[in-house]
Amino acid sequence: MYILHIATELASIAKTGGLGDVTYGLCKELQRQGHQVQVIMPKYDTIDYNKIRDLRVYYRDLWSYDGSERYHNTVWAAETDSLSLLLLEPHHPNYLFSRGTVYGCADDLHRFLYFSRAVTEFLFKSGLRPDILHLHDWPTAIIPVLQKDMYQTLGFAPIKTVLTLHNLEHQGKCFVHELSSTGLNGDAYLQPNSLQDPSDPHLINLLKGGILYADAITTVSPSYKKEILTQKEGFGLQNSLLENEKKLHGILNGIDEDFWNPEIDPHLPNSFPAHPPFSNTIWKQIQEGKALNKAQLRKRLGLEESNVPLVCCIGRIVEQKAPHLIIEAFKYILSKKGQCIILGSPYGDELNRIFHELQYTYKDNPNGMIILEYDEPLSHLLYAASDMLLMPSLFEPCGLSQMIALRYGCIPIVRKTGGLADTITTKNGFIFESPTTKELFATIDEALCLWNNHKDKWLKQMEQGLSQDFSWKSAAKEYLAVYANSLKMVSER
Ligand code: ADP
Repeated sequence: MYILHIATELASIAKTGGLGDVTYGLCKELQRQGHQVQVIMPKYDTIDYNKIRDLRVYYRDLWSYDGSERYHNTVWAAETDSLSLLLLEPHHPNYLFSRGTVYGCADDLHRFLYFSRAVTEFLFKSGLRPDILHLHDWPTAIIPVLQKDMYQTLGFAPIKTVLTLHNLEHQGKCFVHELSSTGLNGDAYLQPNSLQDPSDPHLINLLKGGILYADAITTVSPSYKKEILTQKEGFGLQNSLLENEKKLHGILNGIDEDFWNPEIDPHLPNSFPAHPPFSNTIWKQIQEGKALNKAQLRKRLGLEESNVPLVCCIGRIVEQKAPHLIIEAFKYILSKKGQCIILGSPYGDELNRIFHELQYTYKDNPNGMIILEYDEPLSHLLYAASDMLLMPSLFEPCGLSQMIALRYGCIPIVRKTGGLADTITTKNGFIFESPTTKELFATIDEALCLWNNHKDKWLKQMEQGLSQDFSWKSAAKEYLAVYANSLKMVSER
């Protein structure tokens, strides 16, 4: 099968969170299983071009529309690791993808609508004919609509589409005129049974468009699939999802076994084995490896060297991740003679202010550190050096950090929700239900007590996580079944 992923992130060259890990890991596994896979994404100025090989022009004269204006685009081909890439570069006066960032611009909706239209135009003009277009989240969710309502009338047979919902919180809500900039008649879509937003009748909802028009929809864990069908977690789209439930699948994400592997991780000063069977010698190497990484990390960050547990928290800092609980846990762990490091990228003015203040307060603390930037190499060292990972999320579609942590011998403390509930149990981690400091502190107490007083049980728990298979192998098979099923189906819209 030939699968084209249309995405806004890809790990190692343009990643802001889990979406980048997913496109990278899933594509590599589909390729390992013998399929032809390609990723098309914007040619961001922030791409790490050192990690790209053989960059060459693939399609030179691609004209696409932004409202009534016509702009010229170049599609580049390249390779990163073993993956084949296509990079779309618009020659647009607003420098759509040369902003020093992947997301976070005031005109994000316009940027990704332009990208979606240009990619559809590219498929139409270039004659490239994948079997499946795999789309990710709202930025590319309009593509099935463009294919069926615009390009089909031009004689283009729509390619089957699979849309993955990574996070229902972000839906791409826009004005009619913004949708019209793609060439679609925006007004015609402002209807309850079409793309009209269920909460604000003046707005168009791009993710809803994808849900209605894609041939199949997937989300990133079985629990999250159930949650998004409810009013509480559906963010207003639960009814559209219920109406399309038969094409909705919950497939648990994996992690790439090479990218996240303490045995060969280039970012670790000390590698260590992570595969069963765990003989005494292997256990010794794991413990020594983690201890050496911990010592290096403490030295590098100026933290005190002592026999106390180290807890890390790595992630985007947004409301979903329960920032208030993260702060309380940070202070609590320090008060209990533990060490805690937060590596996070805060989004929004208020969270930026709060976390920068906290960072300042603790800048000289020998046991706590807050690092507010995106640092991929440091994140690898943190997983490898830490004893525990903190993840008290209010909701979590899948969560990759907890799986990565398990693979690096770092035991997760998580709230029971979405993919965290699907991956963490009392056997491999510590889990609490209610998002209160009371339950959180009690769970931290339990974890600290086990680390301090029951080393044998701690190692058993660690072994449980290290022995689990979180690779993409079975998830890729499930995706292939969804692709195959979509190819058999007659499209409903
Ligand atoms: P989400 O998709 O909500 O961002 P996930 O747990 O699924 O959360 O994935 C987060 C990914 O992003 C992990 O690979 C994590 O290590 C990485 N990550 C998040 N924030 C940072 C950061 N500030 N620096 C380095 N890596 C980060």
